[in-house]
Amino acid sequence: MIPGPIEYEPNVLNAMSQPTISHTSKEFIFIFKEALEKLLKVFDAKNALPFILSGSGTLAMEIGTVNFIKRDSKVLVINTGYFGDRFVDLFSRFTKNIDVYRPPLGYAADPVEVQERVRKNEYDLVTVTHVDTSTGIRNDVKRIANYFKDLDTVLVVDGVCSIGGEEFHMDWGVDVAFTASQKALGVPPGLAVGVVGPKAMKIMEKNPPLSFFSDLRKWQNVFKNMLDLKPGYFGTPNVNLITALNVSLTYILNEGMEKRIKRHEIIGESFRAAIKELGLEMLPKESFANTLSVQYLPEGVKQENFLSDAERYGTVFAGGLIPEIKERYFRIGHMGSVSSSEVMISIGAIERALKKNGYNLKLGSGLAAAQEILSKYDFGIPF
Ligand code: PMP
Repeated sequence: MIPGPIEYEPNVLNAMSQPTISHTSKEFIFIFKEALEKLLKVFDAKNALPFILSGSGTLAMEIGTVNFIKRDSKVLVINTGYFGDRFVDLFSRFTKNIDVYRPPLGYAADPVEVQERVRKNEYDLVTVTHVDTSTGIRNDVKRIANYFKDLDTVLVVDGVCSIGGEEFHMDWGVDVAFTASQKALGVPPGLAVGVVGPKAMKIMEKNPPLSFFSDLRKWQNVFKNMLDLKPGYFGTPNVNLITALNVSLTYILNEGMEKRIKRHEIIGESFRAAIKELGLEMLPKESFANTLSVQYLPEGVKQENFLSDAERYGTVFAGGLIPEIKERYFRIGHMGSVSSSEVMISIGAIERALKKNGYNLKLGSGLAAAQEILSKYDFGIPF
């Protein structure tokens, strides 16, 4: 139950263990085409270029930004946690003109404040982390993006901890969005995926390349060719992972995006109800993500002991990521094929691990609170 890598469907893992076929074979080109087309559906993107490259989410961050800036471009980072800091680090390789909008810890970005900052400064590009995995805060991308529709500024959304689990539509006004395979897309780590809208594509054509492997000008014909069932090559694609991605995307689209997002909402709500009932404080004060829950440990409960006890009781959770407070909180990932069973098992383990570490609680009270939510929605095992 960590926020990625998650647990994978056996058929997704089986797909990875098939013999590695030629990356230029008709059979693989067909798989690649299918995966690209399904990705467009998951991102709800029209007239956009999908990409799939070998690498982790950090590569997706690079591809999703460096193609749309020049040296010394003016950029704004909407920073709601650790992965916002990472954008600042990334941009520092290319430009000195980096502004950061960092709401107080626990709060999402105020869309009106974003609008004001963007109005006062002519930014070339703005990044927002949809769900920052270090804080569990979900930014209101819909309201933020709306303002960018009439601007030349490129809006880039880091959807690594959201796409496939949270509501997302490119036509909110998003120009570039991306994720990594290991989270809500349900495929082991190793693929950086995303989509680039028409405004960003035009801007890319005018900019000089700032990188080599991440240069989408080199890759775009590969993806366009695959979509036309023609071979294309720049670097050897990850045949087995793309085959697995195609299987996982079929699961996702068979469940249906609306149903899948609703399932994540119910699971998020049931975890939050349990955490509240147990008297723990959530790190976000508002705008809670549905893909993970982030909460402080009670005074006196040592994180290391809590996590190892919870693991002995059958559930692996993650510690914190924000350097100043990382030992004070823990994170529960609940994206992908998560059902009511995982909710109950996880909360059971949390209760016993808290009790073992001296926290005074009534065993079963968190479970009961989660049960209320699950039964309100008549929610069971989705697959
Ligand atoms: N952005 C977000 C929101 C993330 O959660 C992560 C990974 N946890 C990344 C970017 C970077 O991805 P990776 O670790 O796969 O490089």
